[in-house]
Amino acid sequence: MAQQEEVFKKLISHCKEYGFVFPSSEIYDGLSAVYDYGQMGVELKNNIKKYWWDSMVLLHENIVGIDSAIFMHPTIWKASGHVDAFNDPLIDNRDSKKRYRADVLIEDLLAKMDEKIEKEVEKAAKRFGDSFDEKLFRETNPRVQEHVAKREELHNRFVKAMNDNNLEELRQIILDYEIVCPLSGTRNWTEVRQFNLMFSTEMGSTADGSMKVYLRPETAQGIFVNYLNVQKTGRMRIPFGIAQIGKAFRNEIVARQFIFRMREFEQMEMQFFVRPGEELKWFAKWKETRLKWHKALGLGDNKYRFHDHDKLAHYANAATDIEFEMPFGFKEVEGIHSRTNFDLSSHEKYSGKKLQYFDPELNESYVPYVIETSIGVDRMFLSVMAASYCEEELEGGDTRVVLRLPAALAPVKLAVLPLVRKDGLAEKAREIVDALRFDFKCQYDEKDSIGKRYRRQDAIGTPFCVTVDHDTLVDNCVTIRFRDTMEQKRVPIDELAHIIGEQVSIKSLLQKIAND
Ligand code: ATP
Repeated sequence: MAQQEEVFKKLISHCKEYGFVFPSSEIYDGLSAVYDYGQMGVELKNNIKKYWWDSMVLLHENIVGIDSAIFMHPTIWKASGHVDAFNDPLIDNRDSKKRYRADVLIEDLLAKMDEKIEKEVEKAAKRFGDSFDEKLFRETNPRVQEHVAKREELHNRFVKAMNDNNLEELRQIILDYEIVCPLSGTRNWTEVRQFNLMFSTEMGSTADGSMKVYLRPETAQGIFVNYLNVQKTGRMRIPFGIAQIGKAFRNEIVARQFIFRMREFEQMEMQFFVRPGEELKWFAKWKETRLKWHKALGLGDNKYRFHDHDKLAHYANAATDIEFEMPFGFKEVEGIHSRTNFDLSSHEKYSGKKLQYFDPELNESYVPYVIETSIGVDRMFLSVMAASYCEEELEGGDTRVVLRLPAALAPVKLAVLPLVRKDGLAEKAREIVDALRFDFKCQYDEKDSIGKRYRRQDAIGTPFCVTVDHDTLVDNCVTIRFRDTMEQKRVPIDELAHIIGEQVSIKSLLQKIAND
């Protein structure tokens, strides 16, 4: 784990050094849990968004997009349950003065218990070699059994406390299991309190009276309140979906993991409207479709897992997370929720407007049920960066840092490098950039040795570099160098668009997942 933390620190400084992510307001010492994306970061982020957007609205005839406002009528947040129930249980350590989420402290302990069990299994696997029967070992080994029983006991208590909203019991668990503050190492805990995560502000001038409005904590509600507008004007028939990408804001209690948990972040959400009773079938379908979307990036199939929710939100009848193996363990990147008809019914009640859909096939009206897929752009960005960041030993003792980004997501697709500035090589290189810049993002670089220029491109994840040399002026060929293998090949300039274009296009990713 210590090594992983080291890698995570390096990744954070790499993000800054190469223009991916900067701390917000840095010259004023930053603003906690708020970040800005730099010149490389914004390209990567846009590519992630495009991949998601196109996978929704191009690959599905029955999904359309919208872009709703961040400010919405405050009653929306009453109807959605956010005013009353969008809370995290927080607890303070009196010695370190640090604030924690009580549920996260307990979840971390559960994760440690899981680790212990896995260590026992690993040790035994080594000891027994080929003859090891893992299933039998898990079922019969007394130490494993003991760990599992302890874990189950804690887990059951925790789930019950969360479901009952029992804050005293949460605190008691922390005390009983002797959970200490990671900073002070003490158990000097305060009571557990509920903390609402919504930011609010005032709208309108004070002379006329003003209204308390919220910065939306999720983009979903903008979709719900527009669902009939879209359904009617787009002549949509159930089942259909509405997709949206936009900013969301949460006053997170603990925000210490770089862009994993921010106070201002971006979501890509799709709400899929279905017939009542068909929601669990669609829930299963969307779980599969979304996992496929992730896996098509080639970051490693073993880096994903589903985590079904123990505590269902007030609106859900099924929920799962897609977790990704971050440098700090498996963490949620996307949530898939069967939200029932909770939101639409509640908006009917609070607004007094009918939000029913007339189903021509059934010849009846109903409030549709909803499956939601909700993914954070920033968490996706972090998972892509974490999986791509790589320090490599090269022959001759050299090292390089390379971002093995999926080519379709890389900020720059091609670097064009004249061997020297003179003899017309610079002009020739510029010609190549001028011809290809309509197809994909190219970068021209003439400074420093070729070796150094390759390293700079490796560090930002550019999948292809081409070098223009004196022979190029004669044979119209360049040396193309592949980022991952560092292999070099002589190819005609005319073929570059073809060789590179296919691999770097979002289309290449979409084709992998299209047969749904
Ligand atoms: P967590 O349990 O980690 O707080 P959540 O379950 O509250 O997350 P959802 O409400 O399901 O998250 O939001 C959907 C997605 O939005 C998450 O899967 C995540 O990718 C993203 N997200 C939520 N909160 C944040 C945040 N503070 N910073 C960055 N992304 C976030």
